[in-house]
Amino acid sequence: MREKYEVVIGLEVHAQLKTASKIFCSCSTAFGAEPNSHTCPVCLGLPGALPVLNGTAIEMAARAALALNLRINHESIFSRKNYFYPDLPKGYQISQYDRPFSEHGWVEIPTAERNDAGHAKEWRLKKFGITRLHIEEDAGKSLHEGLRESSSKSYVDLNRSGVPLAEIVSEPDFRSSWEAYDYIQYLRRTLLYVDVCDGNMEEGNLRCDANVSIRTRGSERFGTKVELKNLNSFRFVQKALEYEIDRQIAVVEAGDRVVQETRLWNEREARTYSMRSKEEAHDYRYFPEPDLPPIVVAVDQVARVREALPELPEPRRRRFVEEYGLAFDDAAQLVDNRATADFFEETARDSGNPKAAANWILNELARELKSSGTEITESPLKSDNLSEMIRMIDSGAISGKMAKEVLTEMCRSGAPAAEIVKGMGGGQVSDESQIREIAARVVESNPKQLDEYRAGRTALLGFFVGQVIKQSGGRANPRIVNEVVKEILER
Ligand code: ADP
Ligand code: ZN
Ligand code: MG
Repeated sequence: MREKYEVVIGLEVHAQLKTASKIFCSCSTAFGAEPNSHTCPVCLGLPGALPVLNGTAIEMAARAALALNLRINHESIFSRKNYFYPDLPKGYQISQYDRPFSEHGWVEIPTAERNDAGHAKEWRLKKFGITRLHIEEDAGKSLHEGLRESSSKSYVDLNRSGVPLAEIVSEPDFRSSWEAYDYIQYLRRTLLYVDVCDGNMEEGNLRCDANVSIRTRGSERFGTKVELKNLNSFRFVQKALEYEIDRQIAVVEAGDRVVQETRLWNEREARTYSMRSKEEAHDYRYFPEPDLPPIVVAVDQVARVREALPELPEPRRRRFVEEYGLAFDDAAQLVDNRATADFFEETARDSGNPKAAANWILNELARELKSSGTEITESPLKSDNLSEMIRMIDSGAISGKMAKEVLTEMCRSGAPAAEIVKGMGGGQVSDESQIREIAARVVESNPKQLDEYRAGRTALLGFFVGQVIKQSGGRANPRIVNEVVKEILER
């Protein structure tokens, strides 16, 4: 059934800009304070209070916009979006409408469909258009208690009222739920890279509404779209879209028409519910905000912000593949987080072995960090320690097996690799005469196996090698042991 239809998705993402104070007053944006303690006449919407624009919010919005290839308008204006809601004391939200902060952006990113187990099938690059990024203030928060009881109560907390947001609206360019998923992940990663948003969907500082419609494959016209809300995690976005696509196909297949409406995702029941139809849709009566001057951004200001941007995740991933010869998956995982990517580059450079650096970071180190619940930036292990360890493996001073122990210890204490190896009773024994001595002893004390070997059971080589390594306390270099043992056995 799916093949008959093409899916069309567009996303609206709200990102909380991580300024210390609100967008139009000096109240704190800190999360988790006593309700209504971070408020003043401006963010309470008291009559006569006047907004004053927070310049840092504009700077952060500019960083986000440029990272997403948006064009920043030389002059943009704020508009009032009028609606009534208890958590919006002014009766309007200060937002942007017909002259937004920035427009005409795009990203070109890896995306893949997933199989039932959630594994990516085949990664390919795809370009998605971004219509606009505009700036607005957040509303307050309503809390409801005992809604089904006679004594139900509702509370309003205005700590969030006036917190700066960037709203990022995409073109209807996604053709599957996984494309939408990969896009929001990339958006989040980019906002973290340019340090303007904490990117936590569960905490609500990154929020996503998804618009979805279907049309018969080959048709030019878009179908009627449904807006999905209450998507509090990346997976919910993907799951809600899948559910909604199936629902719309069933509606059309039954000969009905999809109605334009807003639907809420219910995670517990894994389905969407109608919230409001188009007839109830808001008419916001936008008009220019008279209490704020236009936002004017000069060409040289844009250039300065652009110059200060870090290398972004996707260009960095490509460079990792080209410059260090990494596999696509490894490079993608390393750039997922800027601190990990930085750690990798330092280690790759200092150790002279980028592939080993990637392997150690993505496997053993990732495991260590996970089990201790530490971030890479908090770990006692520094990149020079890891580089030293990799050089020791490459020179044969320690074996890969010993290195695992060394790494665990480095993650615990932060001590240099050489010091830890000394404490372990020394590194790998590569001294041939020492190994020959042990090997001779082992062969001598196992005459039965020796006879069998010489009678043709050459598989016993492994037995002798194992014994020698054991006798050396696990320190003998396996490559040399192999050579020496073979030589003795075949004498
Ligand atoms: P509205 O006027 O309802 O806000 P917009 O045209 O501003 O609609 O689009 C809002 C979001 O919906 C954008 O992300 C856009 O890409 C997406 N969108 C628009 N039309 C469709 C459609 N037919 N199917 C899916 N998404 C759509
Ligand atoms: Zn305030
Ligand atoms: Mg719109």
